[in-house]
Amino acid sequence: MKAKLSFLPSLARICLAATTGAALLAISAGSAAQAPANNPVQPNDRRPFLAPGARTSDDPVRIPRKPVAETGPELVIRGGRLFDAVSGGVRPATVVIQGNRIKAVLPPDATGWGADARIIDAAGKTVMPGLIDMHTHVTYPDRATPIDEQASEGGGTLRGQRNLRYFLESGFTSVRDLNGVSNAPFLLSEWSAAGMIPAPRVFAAGWIITGTGGHATERPVSPSHGPDYAKEVDGPDAWRGMVRKAFKEGASVIKIASHFAPDEVRAAIEEAHLLGLKVTCDCETIYTEMAVDAGIDMIEHPLPRSDAAIAKMAKKKIAAVPTLQVYQNLLDRAGGFYGSTSRRFTMTSQGNFDEFKKMKAAGIVMGIGTDTIGDASLMVPNSYIAELKWFVRGGYTVTDALKAGTIVNARLLDMGDELGSIEPGKLADIIIVDGRPDENLDDLARVEHVIKDGKWLIEGGALVTPRHVSQPLVKPSPPADVK
Ligand SMILES: [Zn+2]
Repeated sequence: MKAKLSFLPSLARICLAATTGAALLAISAGSAAQAPANNPVQPNDRRPFLAPGARTSDDPVRIPRKPVAETGPELVIRGGRLFDAVSGGVRPATVVIQGNRIKAVLPPDATGWGADARIIDAAGKTVMPGLIDMHTHVTYPDRATPIDEQASEGGGTLRGQRNLRYFLESGFTSVRDLNGVSNAPFLLSEWSAAGMIPAPRVFAAGWIITGTGGHATERPVSPSHGPDYAKEVDGPDAWRGMVRKAFKEGASVIKIASHFAPDEVRAAIEEAHLLGLKVTCDCETIYTEMAVDAGIDMIEHPLPRSDAAIAKMAKKKIAAVPTLQVYQNLLDRAGGFYGSTSRRFTMTSQGNFDEFKKMKAAGIVMGIGTDTIGDASLMVPNSYIAELKWFVRGGYTVTDALKAGTIVNARLLDMGDELGSIEPGKLADIIIVDGRPDENLDDLARVEHVIKDGKWLIEGGALVTPRHVSQPLVKPSPPADVK
């Protein structure tokens, strides 16, 4: 796929990142402390050779980039109530952006920016980090998708572009896309990073990796399942190879699903960690235990797992993305959960919520994800607000739920030093909400302005995209010597 898009890498160079050595060392030390003895290679142990202050690509692969100075007119957000996602509460403040970075966070009465600065009046509104959805499938078919288009990479790419616009308009500046059709998620990720489409950042897994007959390959094949969505591989070498293939295509994370054997999941995780990628698992029961023992980084969904597995997740600092609302949608629609050949269990709303509460009580770090299957991309942001409300009902404060959806999600993405909070030096992903979401989560549906990567993309609720500027012809035409 890189070959098909050989013009993109140069465009992608406009997206530069500054990574401080101190931040990397801190992350590295934290991961080393939690590395299980049988798997010393943790994702953040990587790249100790990056020089302090080195600039890298804005993704977990962290490719070194040539530094550039932030220039051009500042963008100033004035008069708002700032929820920065790290300092606790909400305070009046002014936020100054230059280039694609946050230049300063100043007192509300500050002045001093250039005469050419653009000013956004946020009086009475809430200024906060862009939302992050940790579990999307933006290319998945929805109910309107013709059956013969369900495995179409082109159809998936177009649908994904539409769905990403819905996310952007709803205040999402990053999504982690955990499975899609063929290479569509990677294409969307590259085009978004290059600023070629108005979209959140897409941290893509690409495909599900599973054993033959595993999740998303079972018969009868349903929409968003099958060989264009899930790669069936058998034996540790084949699992290792498929991880490398996803890395080659542009993966920011590896997604695996039950079923597998212990040596297969160990090989996949070890290979991903060697490449610097985290691994997350859509699995249950014995497979969750195998994944946890093998040093997985995260477990998706509220699928059944033992109390012993929860305790081990907590001990090994393995995170969870519980996606409670999407399973509630399934239960509401189907009147129950009846499993499949690879899902031999049942579930209830109460059981799912009890599992969430056990994970919280155990101290497991949890992120917010919606798992946009079926028509769920069309339910954004309602599905996300509903997920936040599950967290609050389960014991989070409203502000801690918002932190889960911003800074905690960013850390789970391996992007906590660049995204998820409003602090000087970070990438400028900021939203302005007409309301007080820190007091009432429903206000999150009233996103007025979205700034992603320093660009003011949603203005007063509407997408603003610069008009195409025509490139000059090679020479004036028609040529003077043509009679
Ligand atoms: Zn999913």
